[in-house]
Amino acid sequence: MTFTTRFAPSPTGPLHLGHAYSALLAHGMARAAGGRFLLRIDDLDQSRARAHWENQIYDDLRWLGITWDGPVRRQSDHFDDYRHALERLSRKGAVYPCSCKRRDIEAAASAQQEGVPSHGPDGPIYPGTCRHRRFEDRQSGDALRLNLDMACGAKMPSFHETGPDHTGDHQITGQYLKSCVGDPVLARPGMAASYNFSVVLDDAATEITHVVRGEDLFTASYIQCFFQWDMGLPAVTYHHHRLIRDESGKRLAKRDDARAIATYRADGATPQDVRRLVGL
Ligand code: GLU
Repeated sequence: MTFTTRFAPSPTGPLHLGHAYSALLAHGMARAAGGRFLLRIDDLDQSRARAHWENQIYDDLRWLGITWDGPVRRQSDHFDDYRHALERLSRKGAVYPCSCKRRDIEAAASAQQEGVPSHGPDGPIYPGTCRHRRFEDRQSGDALRLNLDMACGAKMPSFHETGPDHTGDHQITGQYLKSCVGDPVLARPGMAASYNFSVVLDDAATEITHVVRGEDLFTASYIQCFFQWDMGLPAVTYHHHRLIRDESGKRLAKRDDARAIATYRADGATPQDVRRLVGL
């Protein structure tokens, strides 16, 4: 299979040095392998996506010397695909609507009996409050979750990681998912899909073989690999790279305009200067 990777920024702010590193690394890996490099615009959250940030993404990437193969894929063009995939999945009976708000989940998680983990790496573990509800009874404003007790099997998937910190194979277990995440979200209220569900469908639709992205998304790979497996989609190889941090060791954020690629460009830096700054 042709090595195919992608860069998938959200158009909710300027690209910064962390994005430059991720895009340059993925692009370099694809070109070295004689493979394909795709660009996807992760504009799932329409309340935050802005056309001017999307245009700036194209400008910044071109300036960095990055070329992408084929048309750009925008998540907002695929909301119906996500809805259809959810309906297909729901026919297996493991998808249920959930009306719990974050504070309800926090409260229920903190009331868990001793010895039962209440928080995972991404926050409170969903305690299953709405599990008795049926997909058909979904109300507007509900999220959709996958019932892990029903979806986990005796045989579970694993994924291969080539990044520096977690190189090797990672077996997913029902116990890990239940003790770190709880029933994962497939669709957020008012949105066609959750981040984890949408990227799995997008990666499969575009025949991605390698996902190259920041270390902060490593734990998300467990959920994404599990969704792939549950829907019978092909597995991908992951490569989670180091994060670019500021002087105080904090990872760069979208609002960190000082490290925006556009700021470096405006200050007269060259693409080579940016490569050097990110250690390439
Ligand atoms: N859109 C995600 C982000 O900007 C990345 C998606 C992914 O690489 O899976 O963090």
